[in-house]
Amino acid sequence: MPLDKVKITIIGGGVGGYPAAIRAARMGAEVIIIENDALGGTCLNWGCIPTKALLQSAGVAATIRNAEVFGIRSKGYEIDFSAVMKRKNDVVSQLCNGVKSLLTAKKVKIIKGTAAFVDAKTVQIAETGEKVTADRILIASGSKSGKIPIEGIDGPDVMDSNQVLTMTSLPKSVVVIGGGVIGVEFAQFLKGMGTDVTILELMPNLIPGLDREIAVALEKIVVASGVKVITNAMVKGISGKKGQNRVRYAIGEQISECVAEKVILAVGRKPDFSSLNVTKIGIACEKGAIVVNERMETNVPGIYAAGDVIGGVMLAHVATAEGECAVKNALGQASVMSYRVVPSCIYTTPEVASVGLTEEEARKNHDVQIGRFPFRGNGKALILNETEGMVKVISDKKYGEILGVHILGPHATDMISEAVLGMTMEMTVEELAHAIHPHPTVSEAIMEAAMTLAGGAIHMP
Ligand code: NAD
Repeated sequence: MPLDKVKITIIGGGVGGYPAAIRAARMGAEVIIIENDALGGTCLNWGCIPTKALLQSAGVAATIRNAEVFGIRSKGYEIDFSAVMKRKNDVVSQLCNGVKSLLTAKKVKIIKGTAAFVDAKTVQIAETGEKVTADRILIASGSKSGKIPIEGIDGPDVMDSNQVLTMTSLPKSVVVIGGGVIGVEFAQFLKGMGTDVTILELMPNLIPGLDREIAVALEKIVVASGVKVITNAMVKGISGKKGQNRVRYAIGEQISECVAEKVILAVGRKPDFSSLNVTKIGIACEKGAIVVNERMETNVPGIYAAGDVIGGVMLAHVATAEGECAVKNALGQASVMSYRVVPSCIYTTPEVASVGLTEEEARKNHDVQIGRFPFRGNGKALILNETEGMVKVISDKKYGEILGVHILGPHATDMISEAVLGMTMEMTVEELAHAIHPHPTVSEAIMEAAMTLAGGAIHMP
């Protein structure tokens, strides 16, 4: 079938769905996108964008607090929480409007409503009864916050990440259940706004899954910033009265509790396709996620899935790559999804970014060598007064291939792209060490970490 005759329907206007819609339209297909909430999905409305906008406000407050270091005396500051939230909302709506314009410019038809499968080529919009038929369908319906089955979890002061983003006033104290990415980012934002914060994390370290050395270093910094971190803590229940929540947790046999005005639940997210009726048309699911192959095809011909709804690596940029892979295959251009080089970023202070294998993973199958360079040896980091952290480069001893790069430090989330590119090109540490880096930049720390494995760093004894 010629591409301009192919009709593709995309369910979900988040970062799994809308870039795929634009790609499909660019390839010549007739595209319909169905979204029951705001375009942009979790990332633009409830995740990446609003949380980073809030963290930027906390960062501005921190800059004012530290201004004297730079010779600037300031007469203090005041936090206008409603203005902080308004700015966050303005950033979100500007980006959402941008997404709408991009889709409209590419003649993508936008339907507002909730889709459910009628058959393998038809979905019906619940709110209007309209039926939409297509040659190909991409499911990109995303995820929702996970819950834990404990007493008091539905209490009025218990918030998921969406509710935190619509708070109208700052709580005096919070307990954050879950010390993963969402938990730690919210903890740092609220601490920066002046709230008293305690994190309860089930595992021995914050951000389980991160390279352990980096996770331990981050945890020390988070604790030093005044956030109370309790690890190995299994939360048992929430009781007490409004504004005074008693969160009970066990460390081994020992039961303790902490009290806070609000409780934030950040124990992971779950694929969400509950309203789609996928079982009606026999789409295979496993462990609460839609099953796809490396071409993003489900078991039902012509139906594809991408993003958080398929589980696995639930990151915005991965969802986008999966969505694009899906529509290429749907439109006859063979594409295979690769997860070999996937960066991940945490917007703490300092930031964390990593790509490839952690030291623990690399040691399982490789004879590894590790190069480290601390930011205290980097001139630009000193200029910024942000000398905490390091770059850690993990490579294969025999061939020098870079297996993983982990950065804890200033601008880590922007700098990781250098490692992404290097690893995509299967670069060796020698090549990275010999690539001339601009001076003075924090990126020189990446080169120097590689140099420690290729003749030695310059700015380290
Ligand atoms: P997560 O899986 O990163 O962390 C959840 C944490 O909760 C884990 O550390 C886990 O050990 C802990 N936990 C689970 N049950 C618990 C219990 N009963 N008591 C105490 N701790 C418990 O999930 P998240 O932080 O909610 O994030 C959800 C998703 O959103 C993830 O896929 C994440 O990658 C993504 N996300 C990414 C970013 C980013 O890239 N910067 C930011 C936010 C969210």
